[in-house]
Amino acid sequence: MEAGKVYFVGAGPGAEDLLTLRGAALLEEADVVVYAGSLVNAALLKRCKPEAEIHDSARLDLNEVLDILIPAAKAGKRVVRLHTGDPSVYGAHREQMDALKAAAVPFEVCPGVSSFFGAAASLGAEYTLPGVSQTVILTRAAGRTPVPEKERLSALAAHGASLVLFLSAGRAAEAVEELLRGGYYTTETPAAIVYKATWPDERILRTTLGELAKDAEAAGITKTALLLIGDFLGAEYENSKLYDPSFTTEFREGKQA
Ligand code: SAH
Repeated sequence: MEAGKVYFVGAGPGAEDLLTLRGAALLEEADVVVYAGSLVNAALLKRCKPEAEIHDSARLDLNEVLDILIPAAKAGKRVVRLHTGDPSVYGAHREQMDALKAAAVPFEVCPGVSSFFGAAASLGAEYTLPGVSQTVILTRAAGRTPVPEKERLSALAAHGASLVLFLSAGRAAEAVEELLRGGYYTTETPAAIVYKATWPDERILRTTLGELAKDAEAAGITKTALLLIGDFLGAEYENSKLYDPSFTTEFREGKQA
């Protein structure tokens, strides 16, 4: 870890031991840590040195975060900006990198396990099933941050791909209505709500698209949840060619039946 540099670190989805080895080493050495307290598991901070200076960004705006990161790096400190999941997904990450570039502060990114991987693990699901879907769409319902018109949920839904909605549990009813308008998914399409994936208080609800909004509401789940939709959550699929006994690959000769 270099002094005078900012390390953006993906904290993983929640469980303390789903931080990467690299991320753990960076946290252990950091002099200054700014973490997204609304979603990052504070238990991860047990790794920090006792004298490390720790800030929760939940109450800070972008300028206030930068006013910590930039002077600390310029003073030769080792700085970690800890983001939930992976910083590249709804991380408000680019604006921080660009501000550091403008301030001539060097930075590096250490990836993390995104919550959509955590949710798949908890569900025992595979997003890309042969004969079902080979595409995963990560998106959100429009909220205070608008979603570009070209990506409205009904348009994305028309693909019938495996779909993961971030930041949308509180708008499940509107999201479902839009998704059904797409023409591929039906009220019977399998769906799941995963609340706090990989945290000790994780909750999993398996449902259908038709029941999704009602189930989220009944469970009181309005945030820190992913909504997952698609036939990848159903029972039907084909086995992969890669491990098909009769399939020849670069590494293996197929067996005749
Ligand atoms: N960068 C993060 C996402 C940040 S946006 C990542 O890679 O996962 C915040 C949204 O992510 C939440 O509203 C919720 O939809 C989702 N999220 C984050 N952690 C989660 C978890 N452990 N379980 C379920 N959803 C989670």
